[in-house]
Amino acid sequence: MTSPITAIPDQKKVGMVSLGCPKALVDSERILTALRADGYAMSPDYAGADVVLVNTCGFLDSAKEESLEAIGEAIAENGRVIVTGCMGDEADAIRARFPDVLAVTGAHQYEAVVDAVREAAPASQGPYVDLVPQIYGEDGGIKLTPRHYSYLKISEGCNHSCAFCIIPSLRGKLASRRIDAVLREAEKLVAAGTKELLVISQDTSAYGVDVRHEPRMWHGHEVRAHMTDLARELGQLRTPEGQVPWVRLHYVYPYPHVDQVIPLMAEGLLTPYLDIPFQHASPKVLRAMKRPANDARVLERIRNWRAIAPDLTIRSSFVVGFPGETEDDFRYLLDWLEEAQLDRVGGFRFEPVAGAQANLLPDPVPEEVKEERYARLMEVTERISSARLAAKVGRTLPVIVDEVGEPDEDGDVGATARSQADAPEIDGHVFLRNVPATLKPGDFADALIEDSDAHDLYGVVG
Ligand code: SF4
Repeated sequence: MTSPITAIPDQKKVGMVSLGCPKALVDSERILTALRADGYAMSPDYAGADVVLVNTCGFLDSAKEESLEAIGEAIAENGRVIVTGCMGDEADAIRARFPDVLAVTGAHQYEAVVDAVREAAPASQGPYVDLVPQIYGEDGGIKLTPRHYSYLKISEGCNHSCAFCIIPSLRGKLASRRIDAVLREAEKLVAAGTKELLVISQDTSAYGVDVRHEPRMWHGHEVRAHMTDLARELGQLRTPEGQVPWVRLHYVYPYPHVDQVIPLMAEGLLTPYLDIPFQHASPKVLRAMKRPANDARVLERIRNWRAIAPDLTIRSSFVVGFPGETEDDFRYLLDWLEEAQLDRVGGFRFEPVAGAQANLLPDPVPEEVKEERYARLMEVTERISSARLAAKVGRTLPVIVDEVGEPDEDGDVGATARSQADAPEIDGHVFLRNVPATLKPGDFADALIEDSDAHDLYGVVG
């Protein structure tokens, strides 16, 4: 057998700096996959890159500043820089600060990015192009996440107009992918080693609304472009070893049909985890925020969900200091949280985003009041999180292994894993001591939980 050709003579290399949310990460993966098909290789550092792509985030002013800093660093370190992503809409501001950037393209303009790279560093075309080694298994595309978990993007854009958000103007109206294309991608990812799928969009509950839930044939039967059909079909996937992969739903709004996916969680076909960005609880603030699915009975529904799937983990995020938020509104939120007992909570201080309607609202909340409310929110949510994690001590929980460490002086090896309650990158971990030598990243295991703190669990493979 001849040895495989692993490098193309004079193959051009692209560096990538990917900022922002998981959705932007998926965009980066798509861009890199398209570039690879075009004969480019990836460079892990600035020095080795013929051109550097910076995929920016333009959501909050602080994210914009971080994006501008990343562009500045790439220019200083490499000099040949193409900017893409959400900040691409502000090409003038970027060019004013960095006149040397080679090109600026907007979010989802994959072809424009690839064209800009071709122009900046023309690909070496030759008979070897098809032999570029694939980075992840069969037809897996380039992934920036570890092989054992993958983001599955089901739609772009959003039909809502929340007062603090400019995503609809940045990314446009909801545009759902075909259900058969989403399922095919999921099936391929799982066949190539993905053990955990993270379903993402701007509004997962609204999946398919724009295409009237158009049905497609999938494995001999019709499935609709609808969150419940999607969840049911994803629950049928099996890894090559016959395991049920974990499937997490992110950015779910509590529309009535969310109730229908809870039984799938109880059956073990869907990971009992919902990421629902509630943002507030006070009906008055939610109205001012123009939030979708602002349902006064949410607490009752959460109770019902937990009665059906007792291990359900609910993650959410909340904004404090939205214009017009009074002390009473804020206390309402704290009382609501005490009732709701959410497992994981991210807190944000309201920050005006250029172009958002909320900037025109009266009664801004002074910075020091925002800070004080933020601290109180964190105190309450950490206390709830600690208690909920402490209740898991003594139980044996399924975990997925992210990393296995080096042996310590006694030869013991530790590992970092996550339970079904922990989404990668945003939630906590399960730290395992003294793991078996055969354990490797991507393995499922059962862990006996021995200890806990505010965010993480500690245990041993049981
Ligand atoms: S639902 Fe609201 S916050 Fe979420 S993307 Fe749409 S407009 Fe923005």
